[in-house]
Amino acid sequence: MYKSANVFYPQDEMTTALLPATIGCSYNKCAFCSMYKDEKYCEVPFPDIEMELKHGFKYTEKVFLTGADPMSIGYDKMKRLLKMIRKYLPYCACVASYASIRSISKFSLEELSILHNLGLRLLYIGFETGRDDILKLINKGHTVNEAIEQARKLNEAKIPFNAIIIYGIAGKGQSADNAVATAKMINTFAPRSVITMNLTVFTGTELHKMIERGYFIPPSGGERIVEIITLLENLEPNRAMIFDTTHPTNIIKIKGTLPYDKERLIDEIRSRIIA
Ligand code: SF4
Repeated sequence: MYKSANVFYPQDEMTTALLPATIGCSYNKCAFCSMYKDEKYCEVPFPDIEMELKHGFKYTEKVFLTGADPMSIGYDKMKRLLKMIRKYLPYCACVASYASIRSISKFSLEELSILHNLGLRLLYIGFETGRDDILKLINKGHTVNEAIEQARKLNEAKIPFNAIIIYGIAGKGQSADNAVATAKMINTFAPRSVITMNLTVFTGTELHKMIERGYFIPPSGGERIVEIITLLENLEPNRAMIFDTTHPTNIIKIKGTLPYDKERLIDEIRSRIIA
């Protein structure tokens, strides 16, 4: 692994080969995030990436690019990177990566289609919420309309993506409203899955400072459960979509495919509250 201090990857990629692409976060301004706060952003030089690949296992089938948002390297470099992966790992059928709405907006539909053909087959994107006021509060750097536009572009380019959302992020008294707005946003595009995270407040973040100043009050556990149920009730995908709350931060861990498992998942949450 490249000499990076912090490497984060989704739990679904626990057994995937990691390939260093970027270090840290090129944005680093989300109010709730402390992941790369002390890390200077940089791109991993191509000779270093090539060295990793040369020593990689030729029959590797999947690769995860490390860094908060490797798509921020732009089209030309991403194309070069994918070609390099194909050269050294000819059996790799899927290159996965974190991405942001901001970075995807820099790619045209045609460019994304080319990257898809070169092996870019899965993105994990932090949508967080479907409310503009909350996106602004957390300084996410995109709006709901921008999120919808970029998500639809990915659908058109046939690049599957997982939409990560955070429940509890709208604060006390706002959970149900946030869930309805978030479901409404997601219903306008077709993610491969919705991955939920439960709001966790880290010391030193802007969100933590907001709480200290009394500017933000996190919702109770009960309210957060209502938020998950409301989200499930309002999600109406027209293509099969995984609903996944198994990330360690979640209060209740369930997983299923919508729309088929909707009632089962809601019943499962309700039965655990009563139990
Ligand atoms: S949430 Fe993602 S984009 Fe925002 S600061 Fe953290 S790593 Fe960067």
